[in-house]
Amino acid sequence: FEAKRKSRPLAVYCSSMREEVKIRHQMQQDLAEAIKQGHLSMAYQPIWDNHSGRVAKLEALVRWYHPQWGQVSPADFIPMAEEAGLIQGLGEQVLWQSCRDLARLKGAGFSDLQMSINRSTLEFQTIDTEGSEWLKVIHHFGLDPRDIVIEITETLLMDAGEQHRLRIEALRRAGCQIAIDDFGTGYSALNYLRTFPVDLVKIDRSFVRHIPFNEQDRMLLEGIISIVHNLGMQVVIEGVETREQLNFLSSKGCAYTQGFLLSRPLPFEDLLAYLRLNHGALEQPSPALASLS
Ligand code: C2E
Ligand code: MG
Ligand code: MG
Ligand code: MG
Repeated sequence: FEAKRKSRPLAVYCSSMREEVKIRHQMQQDLAEAIKQGHLSMAYQPIWDNHSGRVAKLEALVRWYHPQWGQVSPADFIPMAEEAGLIQGLGEQVLWQSCRDLARLKGAGFSDLQMSINRSTLEFQTIDTEGSEWLKVIHHFGLDPRDIVIEITETLLMDAGEQHRLRIEALRRAGCQIAIDDFGTGYSALNYLRTFPVDLVKIDRSFVRHIPFNEQDRMLLEGIISIVHNLGMQVVIEGVETREQLNFLSSKGCAYTQGFLLSRPLPFEDLLAYLRLNHGALEQPSPALASLS
């Protein structure tokens, strides 16, 4: 279903403002119901480690199939959940399902995978300063906090008060890795990277789009990669869609890549099949990469 799914702005569903308000209201109710009924599902997108040639992490991406509208993009319904006060319930289900599925993968022999979970600013508001609600779920499934990456946005680090920082620090102390998502799309005052160390920086796909053909973009991306590396953090590049992009990034020593070239986000069963094909022994070149060359 992933291939068919396109991000559609809400405006496409409706023709007038009044209608939009009505539909938005209806969709909020439907979303509330879907959360209550446990009808949201997860897709997982592999993140490759270029050095080992293996899948290292999975990004957990929530999916909502609406009976009338089909797949609704999380870019639309996450903000809706935030507005309607539903984000906490949604986030709990995402964490629960992602941890459950990671535990299943470990049970199936994929013991070194990490799960990377998106958390919006509002989701940080409701947990205690130790992050113990989340840690409890992680432990419930027999996982180690080291198995978990928490993806936050630049905005959270810049705007959010001391409370949020404390929570992030506590989760990090417990062993979770912290990643900055969509790096470069917010304020991008690099300053906060100095005062607030994180483990991973996920560079937004807009920086990769014209790579390697646009020289300015190439230099900008190279610069960002080397700054992040020099600060002792790791780089993930999002939105890798072409072989040329992947080659360029590998040549720049960028360890982690994620994008449609390597895999779309996959439902659990498809992911399992993908991993069985592509997560072989270190020495073996992965079929996914080999088939591209
Ligand atoms: P994100 O965290 O930056 O996730 C990456 C998005 O880029 C995903 O869109 C993924 O399908 C898409 N993507 C991956 N590779 C490529 C590529 O090569 N080309 C292109 N064009 N796109 C690619 P998706 O799943 O629609 O999610 C959109 C956003 O919704 C996410 O952006 C994230 O901010 C939010 N989101 C998704 N799931 C969750 C969740 O469980 N909780 C929260 N709080 N937010 C979520
Ligand atoms: Mg993300
Ligand atoms: Mg991202
Ligand atoms: Mg994004």
